[in-house]
Amino acid sequence: MNFSSKLLENAVNEVSQLPGIGKRTALRLVLHLLKQSKTHTKHLTTALDALVEQVKLCKSCYSISDVEVCEICSSSQRNKEIICVVEDIRDVMAIENTVQFKGLYHVLGGRISPMEGVGPHNLTISELIERIESGVVKEVVLALSSTMEGDTTNFYIYKQLQKYQITISTIARGISVGDELQYTDEVTLGRSIANRVPFGDSLAQ
Ligand SMILES: [Zn+2]
Repeated sequence: MNFSSKLLENAVNEVSQLPGIGKRTALRLVLHLLKQSKTHTKHLTTALDALVEQVKLCKSCYSISDVEVCEICSSSQRNKEIICVVEDIRDVMAIENTVQFKGLYHVLGGRISPMEGVGPHNLTISELIERIESGVVKEVVLALSSTMEGDTTNFYIYKQLQKYQITISTIARGISVGDELQYTDEVTLGRSIANRVPFGDSLAQ
């Protein structure tokens, strides 16, 4: 691509770093931003600036939050004895949409994937264990995607948690194998959470 403007080229290069955005789409988006009023585009850059500068991970569940301890963790309406383990905030949002789960979450920040160089230590598994060792938790619900990496991660966590006096369950598999949790429809996902099964049983299937 030959650019007549270095400024335009830089902006297109930055936008094309985003997942799923090629150079052509990046150019279309940047030209769109240029056509908009300056105030409009400024709102976007201000929002991104604020996000980068101010966003935090909740000290307890590691979900994205504006404050030290997120709304879910600090709510008195939530059952602090149940923790649902998920990969990222999109899964928290998907499960929250079902209105079927009233416990807390633990966001791993990904799943174990040797191919992508992600090991247990890159995830918040030791932080999950610390939460369990605090003694309040009675049940951990493993709610990872039913992909190979999701299953590996579930099994690794299950092994780590076995020595604690807690129930370890997993969401019922109304969700097809290979499905990403966040793309599952609300009814199926809600039912999967409500009808969760002991993790040990899911291994025998
Ligand atoms: Zn939290």
